[in-house]
Amino acid sequence: AAQIWYEKDGDLSVLEGKKVAIIGYGSQGHAHALNLRDSGVDVVVGLRANSKSVEFAKEQGLEVKTVADATKEADIIMILAPDQYQRTIWSEEIEPNIKEGAAVGFAHGFNIHYGYIKPTADHPVFMVAPKGPGHIVRREYVAGRGVPVVVAVEQDPRGDGWDITLAYAKAMGALRAGAIKTTFKEETETDLFGEQDVLMGGVNHLVETGFEVLTEAGYQPEIAYFEVCHELKMLVDLMNEGGLNKARWSCSDTAQYGDFTSTVVDESTKDRMRYQLKRIQDGSFAKEFIDDQDAGAPKFKELQEKFSHEKIEEVGPKLRAMFSWNKDVKDADEAQSFT
Ligand code: NDP
Ligand code: MG
Ligand code: MG
Repeated sequence: AAQIWYEKDGDLSVLEGKKVAIIGYGSQGHAHALNLRDSGVDVVVGLRANSKSVEFAKEQGLEVKTVADATKEADIIMILAPDQYQRTIWSEEIEPNIKEGAAVGFAHGFNIHYGYIKPTADHPVFMVAPKGPGHIVRREYVAGRGVPVVVAVEQDPRGDGWDITLAYAKAMGALRAGAIKTTFKEETETDLFGEQDVLMGGVNHLVETGFEVLTEAGYQPEIAYFEVCHELKMLVDLMNEGGLNKARWSCSDTAQYGDFTSTVVDESTKDRMRYQLKRIQDGSFAKEFIDDQDAGAPKFKELQEKFSHEKIEEVGPKLRAMFSWNKDVKDADEAQSFT
């Protein structure tokens, strides 16, 4: 059975008298920095000099320094810049300035697992990886709850790697929900698989394709939007509470029969999932992503542009605006306030 840790298993005193540098203040960075600060931890945020994020961090009352200066004083350094930039930030700003024996943390195993970052043996290397988007990690903490995390220790030169990891996870609010023990390898490969094949690559393409099939068949886009996008959340909420069985239980017999007999996902889908998994395991996905990023991300930018104009996005914003309770919820482009 999986090893799972809860609130009683983390000791915040492990972080007393320690300085924690959070590198980056984006989705994860703001959530880690604010949750740790509100748990009484001494936090400094490390950002590049011209960073757009500096004012957001300062507005929240956080101390902000350059990555180099934040690193110099830190006993624990959590690297929360985008994965593709981490190895350059590491080699240029962190490695030359890191204190002997300072612990190095990650929220995703990518750079350690694929060998892009190699801290020397004196540094504990750990992972606290929230299984949820950063803005929810913050929202749940403020609400007195937590987002579950997976945790791992890759290097443990002094034997205090797990104490640091569990204290950090507790300060994040994550032990309220639970921390599952994993390895950098398992987290990296399963995280990439989940986002590529189910949570994003699976669901997003399924929603868009369903929307296209209905509208191309002449149905109203507004109706199609509700059928293949809006209702998804309600089913996912039930799934989250009680699994597939609860989501099915709440639906009509007609819906269940259609679900059981659907041919949309079949053995060939499973074969393609296995193919995607193989590309994750053998490093070819990581290499393709990083090589494109190193070349200035031409393919990534082209895809971002293309997918931001999917047909469902033309009708989505108008319909979402109809929900009065949504009026304070901003679409992603406008969402900058980290509350
Ligand atoms: P973001 O894209 O949100 O991070 C952006 C932040 O990094 C900004 O503050 C940006 O500042 C800063 N940054 C970018 N480049 C540099 C640089 N060269 N030097 C210093 N700071 C820089 O990242 P995420 O939060 O999405 O991801 C961070 C880590 O967390 C990744 O390892 C990711 O895999 C992991 N993760 C992310 C999840 C999520 O919810 N997004 C979920 C679980 C794990 P600037 O204004 O300077 O650009
Ligand atoms: Mg993930
Ligand atoms: Mg991920």
